[in-house]
Amino acid sequence: MKLIMLGPPGAGKGSQAKIISKEYNIPHISTGDMFRNALRNETPMGLKAKSFMDKGELVPDEVVNGLVEERLQNEDCLNGYVLDGYPRTVNQAEALTMILDKNNQSIDYVISIDTSDKTVIKRLTGRRTCSNCGAIYHIDNNPPEVEGVCNFCQHDVIQRDDDKEDTVRNRLEVYKEQTQPLINYYKDLNLLVEIDGEKDLSDVFANIQEILEASE
Ligand code: ADP
Ligand code: ADP
Ligand code: ZN
Repeated sequence: MKLIMLGPPGAGKGSQAKIISKEYNIPHISTGDMFRNALRNETPMGLKAKSFMDKGELVPDEVVNGLVEERLQNEDCLNGYVLDGYPRTVNQAEALTMILDKNNQSIDYVISIDTSDKTVIKRLTGRRTCSNCGAIYHIDNNPPEVEGVCNFCQHDVIQRDDDKEDTVRNRLEVYKEQTQPLINYYKDLNLLVEIDGEKDLSDVFANIQEILEASE
């Protein structure tokens, strides 16, 4: 099963992708996590990405497309994957279509999580992330069992620099300008399913599951 999670920053793409990945045993491929890991390891790509991420802007398409193409060649992708945070521009969507065509593959569903601006701002400013494993928390909706400590790996749970209010607003603008057009791109390809992202985490997952299991 090959899935794409689509939606504004803070919609819940990463949270749902993690649940899907576990439930269906397919890798969760988050370009944001890949850039944050690269940055932690101080690779040239990580350092390059940082200048864009800090401003809430997108890393250039050619960097992201190359990274994803390489990742999808990994053996763990043979049974499918859930893409989170990619594609984010029409250029990236076209690049992905080309990569898939080359391998005679196709996406099964693009899951678009609909969420209001008000909700995503609340979710992003309250989001906390494990600095080691990337687990996702929220100060009100989904706090770690011990404040500041990851439930899974016991490392520090922190606020991402780009989750501070100024950057959040710019990321929403960037989403509307550059990523929102993908909704029509995938609607035209008959791949889009829209999910109500205002519900709580488990209800959103239940709705996704209904869609995925209806087709089996
Ligand atoms: P995205 O990957 O789309 O940016 P995340 O999955 O990181 O979004 O979620 C953003 C924040 O909102 C996190 O703090 C997460 O815990 C919280 N969150 C995600 N989905 C829900 C939901 N359905 N209800 C309440 N909070 C949520
Ligand atoms: P969120 O889902 O909260 O927006 P991500 O972790 O997906 O956060 O992305 C964080 C940042 O990483 C983005 O603001 C952008 O700078 C960069 N990034 C991640 N994925 C992409 C992508 N597909 N194209 C360009 N930049 C990306
Ligand atoms: Zn952790």
